[in-house]
Amino acid sequence: MQIGFIGLGHMGFPMARRLVEAGHEIIAFDSRREAVDHLVELGAQSASSPRDVADRAENVLASLPSLQASLEVATGAGGVIEGALAKRFVDFSTIGSRTARLVHDRLAERGIVAIDSPVSGGVAGAEKGTLALMVSGPRNEFDALSPVLESIGRPFYVGDQPGSAQTMKLVNNMLAATGLIATCEAVVMGVKAGLDPQVMIDVLNAGSGGTNASRDKFPRSILPRTFDFGFATGLMVKDVRLYLEEADALEVSKEVAEAVGRLWENAIRELGPDSDFTAAIKPIERAAGVVVGSAERG
Ligand code: NAD
Repeated sequence: MQIGFIGLGHMGFPMARRLVEAGHEIIAFDSRREAVDHLVELGAQSASSPRDVADRAENVLASLPSLQASLEVATGAGGVIEGALAKRFVDFSTIGSRTARLVHDRLAERGIVAIDSPVSGGVAGAEKGTLALMVSGPRNEFDALSPVLESIGRPFYVGDQPGSAQTMKLVNNMLAATGLIATCEAVVMGVKAGLDPQVMIDVLNAGSGGTNASRDKFPRSILPRTFDFGFATGLMVKDVRLYLEEADALEVSKEVAEAVGRLWENAIRELGPDSDFTAAIKPIERAAGVVVGSAERG
């Protein structure tokens, strides 16, 4: 099957590579030429714009870093909306339900079905094909796309309302943001009290305080102080802000989310948007005057 793929970054590249390896003909575009060249070396074809992709493929998939990028790629000048062949636009990006509905409504005017499919599982999940895919859109389109989505991960059908899968993804990421920043605070507290951070992580993972952060992010990126997990602080802050906006609109409690949001806003101020999100422990360490990790334990 010919499939278009736009956005070959941390997540998009390994997802597109898996589709190439599964035998699909991939027509790829990214504003970074080198990313496209790299995928062409693996067997994909290159395209010159999102419109060019949509002129040549019925199914156009995208993994993009911002709301603006998804809007432009889908509905802007030279975008998917102008393509002659495109019938479906599947966005793996996290853009919130409001932008997803906007994209859906604009594409619907041109007969293109928008399908939200934000993903969870990180770069490692994208490489291994084990992502959780949260999908909203017409059920028959989900069923038709499932074989393609299964090359990338495990698809979950969230519902037929445009944007529903985005809301699901924001709930997931708010909890991931909370787990990471809360674990950072608690481990810094323990280290300042004289505890060994590796022992703390081992205990948490065997006990009831374990989180995805203690099981995966601490051992892989924080304790070895590599801070290379593959998700940017700017993307985490985007998702936390989107969650707070949606919670505001729904007039629900957001006491925890607001506190978590303040810590992430502080992280982006101190570290910049391109830092890895696991570096969010650094401002907390600085304020406490300690460093967490194998390196300083000597
Ligand atoms: P990224 O910045 O690594 O990749 C984005 C890619 O899009 C880049 O290659 C960039 O050159 C390209 N791009 C940007 N604007 C473009 C445009 N107008 N036209 C064509 N290409 C364009 O980002 P990422 O980490 O791969 O994240 C992508 C999406 O997936 C985001 O919405 C993010 O929130 C979500 N996500 C990321 C992770 C992760 O662990 N990195 C996990 C789950 C979800």
